[in-house]
Amino acid sequence: MTAPLSPSDIARSTVASRAAVFIDKDGTLLDEGSRTTQPAPLRFQPGALECLTALAAKGLALIVVTNQSGLSMGHVTRREFSQRQAALERQLVEAAGIALTDFVVCPHTPAPDGQPACLCRTPAPGLLIRAARAHRIDLAASWMVGDTLDDIEAGRRAGCRTLLLNTGRETQWRRSPLRTPHARCTHWDAVTPLILASGNDLCAPDESNAAAAG
Ligand SMILES: [Zn+2]
Repeated sequence: MTAPLSPSDIARSTVASRAAVFIDKDGTLLDEGSRTTQPAPLRFQPGALECLTALAAKGLALIVVTNQSGLSMGHVTRREFSQRQAALERQLVEAAGIALTDFVVCPHTPAPDGQPACLCRTPAPGLLIRAARAHRIDLAASWMVGDTLDDIEAGRRAGCRTLLLNTGRETQWRRSPLRTPHARCTHWDAVTPLILASGNDLCAPDESNAAAAG
């Protein structure tokens, strides 16, 4: 006869280990000239939708991560940004049947000296950690995909694997171990095999989670 589960056992058993792909928005998901601070229609980077469709089919949660300091600087209102975010999410569904698990935003402005003034603006990992808690994401099994080394640093600080989609937007190349991607490529077509090659351990639990989530 087995002992009844303690509260901590129950807590552990309900902490699903779903993997996610965190995706930077401007310049990675969207064409650099097609920011959500501009009116629709939005232009996705070539190959992005095909890749995200394939990753979602493997049960990976898809979470968009973005710095939007224009919110705190008054360049865009919360209402306007929400409308643009909704338009992006709608376009993902209509164009490719892609439903995001979340879309997380840092609205803060960096300090005048460029130093972080919050815990969520990338390269800080706060957005990833918050989303992981909200959706029971296994960060160690997850990936951050971005086009700058700040995205890579945020992913590494959160404990994720990191993939630099080098589309030419990174220009400073301030290097450090935290800013070294686990993988890199120049086109979304290469992202799917890189992430899926990272192991069946990544995918197996996700499929059961996806089934459980209906
Ligand atoms: Zn922030």
